[in-house]
Amino acid sequence: MSETTTFRIITRPEVHVCCLKCEAEGRRHGAWVPIDEVDEVGTDAVHRGRVVTLARDVDLHIDTETAVLESRNLPVDGPLTPAKLEAWQAVYEAVGEADWAAFLAWVDAGAYVEDGDRLPSSVAFQECYAGGWVDFEGYARELADETGLMEDWPEAARSYFDWARWARDARHDYTVADGPHGGIFVFRDL
Ligand SMILES: [Zn+2]
Repeated sequence: MSETTTFRIITRPEVHVCCLKCEAEGRRHGAWVPIDEVDEVGTDAVHRGRVVTLARDVDLHIDTETAVLESRNLPVDGPLTPAKLEAWQAVYEAVGEADWAAFLAWVDAGAYVEDGDRLPSSVAFQECYAGGWVDFEGYARELADETGLMEDWPEAARSYFDWARWARDARHDYTVADGPHGGIFVFRDL
């Protein structure tokens, strides 16, 4: 892929690890962390940022349980059970940070297939994903290059080739999603 027509956007899935004792008392205290750092969040970190006065009767309840009650940059935004959390961590690990924004766009476009955990399949994603591009014609030109479309063509045929039309026709075999900051993500239809 040429550098001028590709781009990458870093998007990390994050979850809100919250104190269940505070939650039961009607107050949400939590820490937003990347999904792969949940295990490193202690209950004290969940309460960090709260004004803690060291009076004798302050209960820091550092032994209480925490749970993931919200998430962002994930296709689901509600609470996650430990099993679901683990499943999403595995998906993220397989997809990787660099392609996560594209993965979200793929799911959002409804082009995804589910894996055994009934989550969007990272294996299918990797089969479908054809990169981030400024526009579809940019991708189509790369595709033509890779497949040797014009290999034996005379120069005149190359220079008069209708790229826009060819790209329009080729596009039928793809799902195209807008990138979060311009550009597009291209996915092969399975
Ligand atoms: Zn608490």
